[in-house]
Amino acid sequence: MDVRLIEESPWRFRIERTGDMRVPGTVFAPRELLPLDAGDKSLEQVANVATLPGIVRASFAMPDIHWGYGFPIGGVAATDVDAGGVVSPGGVGFDISCGVRLLGATVDRRSLMPHLPELMDRLDHLIPRGLGRGALWRPGGRRELHEVLRHGARYAVERGHGVPRDLQRCEDYGAVDDADPTQVSERALERGGAQVGSVGSANHFLEIQVVEKVYDESCAQAFGLHAGQVCVMIHCGSRGLGHQICSDHVRAMGEVMHRYGISLPDKQLACVPVHSHEGRAYLGAMAAAANYARANRQLLGDEARRVFGELAGAGLDLVYDVSHNVAKLETREVDGARKVLCVHRKGATRALPPGHPDLPPDLVAVGQPVFVPGTMGTASYVLTGVTGNEAFDSSCHGAGRVWSRHRALREVTTGGLRTELALAGVAVRPTSWRSVKEEAPEAYKDVDAVVTATAHNNLGRLVVRLVPIGVLKG
Ligand code: 5GP
Ligand code: MN
Ligand code: MN
Repeated sequence: MDVRLIEESPWRFRIERTGDMRVPGTVFAPRELLPLDAGDKSLEQVANVATLPGIVRASFAMPDIHWGYGFPIGGVAATDVDAGGVVSPGGVGFDISCGVRLLGATVDRRSLMPHLPELMDRLDHLIPRGLGRGALWRPGGRRELHEVLRHGARYAVERGHGVPRDLQRCEDYGAVDDADPTQVSERALERGGAQVGSVGSANHFLEIQVVEKVYDESCAQAFGLHAGQVCVMIHCGSRGLGHQICSDHVRAMGEVMHRYGISLPDKQLACVPVHSHEGRAYLGAMAAAANYARANRQLLGDEARRVFGELAGAGLDLVYDVSHNVAKLETREVDGARKVLCVHRKGATRALPPGHPDLPPDLVAVGQPVFVPGTMGTASYVLTGVTGNEAFDSSCHGAGRVWSRHRALREVTTGGLRTELALAGVAVRPTSWRSVKEEAPEAYKDVDAVVTATAHNNLGRLVVRLVPIGVLKG
């Protein structure tokens, strides 16, 4: 696909409609955040997504855009489901419902510091992470695993892993309704059954952070955040279960796509109409994985809460839990008409504006918290949703990779990274330095520039900046 990039303002670019593109591409990034390295296909992916049947408005890319499977990471695309709109597993990603949960501690940095080493050691011991290394919880057979797939974080809380107030601060109150575990393969159940309550590897983490700066006092207060406060940020998803579901359904769709008259520039964009047997099957399985991911984060958050209580006498209150890899059916106005859209957000965070009916009552006035992890050695941010967001109320989800994992392994040394993190005052407990090197700060875009571009493009507003003091990596 030919990419004709036009600078619309210093903050955004348009990809002109050419060839089979049904809508233009909109890239919410200044030039310095564009993925322009030779051989990088991310912008071509934005253009490819614009060819999907039923796509409306534009194929969007957030400022943290980088290369992904089919869709770019940082991609947002909505299709009109009653006009043949499709659903594409590549528009959700392999780690279905990967997302971020932030908890605010009832303790400030100064009071926590004496406990930090012991806290890190205990978490290091208790929090399962890395490739296939145990889990906090083992469901009692398939029947109980199905409960997790149907009821997500709600089931975890019901079983005593958390408090009802946690669910008030979860997207969809902890679970989506239309999960269909019968669409989840035996292999996916097998992979996921032993991983409920585990972080996983690589980019996933549990991090202790401190609120370093507050941009919006009243919003921060509504979120339960203040300067100097300790927080816990958890980033993980649906582990082997989601991965297997994505593989299974990409394969199934690839085989039947032609029957629906769909042909696409990239087979990684495999898709079928939302209103089709295969489309419904994928959405049912995807929802099951979404619930699994939410139960996963609920268990991990509750374990961190127990450790904070025991070792630091501190509480942890949930700020919010939100996915950044998921597709949702949302009724929205497009070109003056109400339409049911299948909104794919892949490496993009839903960001509801103030007044939205899906917000919990205590957040209606301020909007939905959006979490933007940066790197283990730099900052992370909390933003809030704003009115008039052009990308169907979506925001960025991270700093975004600039180096491949391979390049990071080549360029980063363990010694150099250890020194860098020690100088930044960050205690690290890795399961493998190899995996930490892949996620070194140098491998990512500048998160400060990413959130600035996000705010300039009216995709969110800055609320607080967080800095890490302790990192548990997979
Ligand atoms: P993804 O969901 O695309 O895998 O990752 C989301 C974002 O997490 C990345 O773009 C990166 O900015 C951020 N990230 C990766 N590792 C870490 C970490 O150890 N700590 C923090 N705070 N952020 C990280
Ligand atoms: Mn993930
Ligand atoms: Mn993620």
